[in-house]
Amino acid sequence: MNYRRLGSAGLKLSELSFGSWVTFNKQVDKKLAERMFGICFDAGVNFFDNAEGYERGQSEIVMGEALKRLGRPRDSYCVSSKVFFGIHSHPLPSQVGLSRKHVTEACHQALQRLQVDYLDLYFCHRADPDTPIGETVWAMHNLVTQGKVLYWGTSEWTADEIIEAHRFAAANHLTPPTMEQPQYNLLDRERFEVEYAPLYEQYGMGTTIWSPLASGALTGKYLESIPPNSRASLPGYEWLRERMVESERGQERMARVRQLLPLAEELGTTPSKLAIAWCLLNPNVSTVILGASRVEQLEENLGAAEVVPKLDPSMREKLASLAG
Ligand code: NDP
Repeated sequence: MNYRRLGSAGLKLSELSFGSWVTFNKQVDKKLAERMFGICFDAGVNFFDNAEGYERGQSEIVMGEALKRLGRPRDSYCVSSKVFFGIHSHPLPSQVGLSRKHVTEACHQALQRLQVDYLDLYFCHRADPDTPIGETVWAMHNLVTQGKVLYWGTSEWTADEIIEAHRFAAANHLTPPTMEQPQYNLLDRERFEVEYAPLYEQYGMGTTIWSPLASGALTGKYLESIPPNSRASLPGYEWLRERMVESERGQERMARVRQLLPLAEELGTTPSKLAIAWCLLNPNVSTVILGASRVEQLEENLGAAEVVPKLDPSMREKLASLAG
């Protein structure tokens, strides 16, 4: 496993990490999570991603239990949480968003659910138009000085919002955001590569990227039909199936996925490993967060780094044209 700095911070994360969206508490129970974490630790993974909003807090409970049972030293791995969506289906106004109240409460609750004394990474899961950015920066700074959070960051904020947070922090001698968690994969590149381009150098922004397989689309498994038990078949994820496969845009994306298959074959690898390896080529990626509902998927995806040396300039060009 290779380790990369989280932007200009001193923290080094494994370039492949493991997340729990959709899977934990739905497709992955505590026992399977424990097995998956064991595989991750053996492979050198040192970062596990979570959020209050995943399965309304239950995903953090599954992760906390599994990590506790494994009993690895706390200084050998990092965990994250994210605040914004809350855990309630009908939340009160104080139970969502990025107010000082909710940022602080959500942190305390995540610490309990994950059974840890501090969060290594804590993200604002989206921007909150109803809270001044300065209030959120203050709340995060306080959690950092209290030792409850080590690094704070954003997820899917606009570049302008991130810049505003940096300017406010600098003007008030507060802790600025260290990292952003954006989507980045062969089919979704614009924000990461274009909108954020100035931020990597200017602020040393680290990134923990999500959905490297575009929710599984880049495996090629949705090209003919929706496989049973796949993410797009799950009750409650009809919106994803529509977006990923059934919409006009979904079909256009599937046409690009179809072009990935022969390239993987040419390299003697799988589309999943190739798509993840492509993410690793970008030096502005600090870590690629993998998702998996089964052990075999996790084992396959953890092998993606082997493919990176095979990506010569001509293959990179072919991949770039596929990405559009
Ligand atoms: P991917 O795009 O890699 O999708 C993972 C899913 O694809 C798996 O759960 C599985 O779903 C399927 N899959 C993965 N590998 C294979 C394989 N080799 N063969 C066949 N199917 C495979 O990542 P995620 O969308 O899960 O995102 C990764 C992590 O990023 C999340 O767990 C979360 O921590 C984070 N995230 C953050 C967001 C944010 O807003 N900050 C948003 C989304 C994710 P199945 O078997 O069910 O089809």
